[in-house]
Amino acid sequence: MSNLKYCQGPHCHTYNTQDRLKGSKDNKTYQTRRRSAFYYGGGNFCCLRCQDDWFTKYGTRAVDHFGRITEAKHLTEENAWFKDYDWRIDDRQNRYFFYNGITKERRPLTEAQYRDSNYTLNTGE
Ligand SMILES: [Zn+2]
Repeated sequence: MSNLKYCQGPHCHTYNTQDRLKGSKDNKTYQTRRRSAFYYGGGNFCCLRCQDDWFTKYGTRAVDHFGRITEAKHLTEENAWFKDYDWRIDDRQNRYFFYNGITKERRPLTEAQYRDSNYTLNTGE
């Protein structure tokens, strides 16, 4: 029917803003925000406050569920690649690049590769 989705903030409906006030004339209530797209928390929250509310309520359980970090991770050559761009370069082909934080090596990247969040040179965690 519609592609609208609800903000996942557990207290979203308690924030008294005009856009949350819905319903017929004599039966208005503050309601959870509903939109076609949200810009916080992976598209799940209408604002940072709602995202933070969710983490306050569920964060510890979520971390335990998905795996708590119990020892230090190490940055090595294999996982030190990160994407960057230089807005001063006019040539779009050479604007985007990988940069290795350990070796300082720089490798060219297409704009599509830059925007593809699954595209990486990193082989370790
Ligand atoms: Zn919300």
